[in-house]
Amino acid sequence: MHEMAITQSIVDAVVERVGTARVTRVGLQIGALSGVEADSVRFCFDVVTRDTLLEGASLQIARPVGSGRCRDCGDRFRVDDPLPVCACGSVDIEVTGGQQVRVTDIEMEAAADVRNVRL
Ligand SMILES: [Zn+2]
Repeated sequence: MHEMAITQSIVDAVVERVGTARVTRVGLQIGALSGVEADSVRFCFDVVTRDTLLEGASLQIARPVGSGRCRDCGDRFRVDDPLPVCACGSVDIEVTGGQQVRVTDIEMEAAADVRNVRL
């Protein structure tokens, strides 16, 4: 499963950064055009984090919408379709957003205090 591998790499990257601190919250961006299902990632997250420092951490997923720019007329617009067409009729569209899958922030518990790390 595609999402399982993605979630595993996200969790590995977080573990690498936090060392031995217990993670309480992970913030993710999963672009609307990334082809990654947020619900599947949520499910995989619970499985992958079992017996790790992320176990029980809450997962917050933002879904940025897609955006693009027409290479013919220069127009910028919202993209909901993987194969966008510009209002001018061109299909030569540069997708400029909505394809990302990334960790935006991690919250962890270091003994008594909670630190916030921005990546
Ligand atoms: Zn155009």
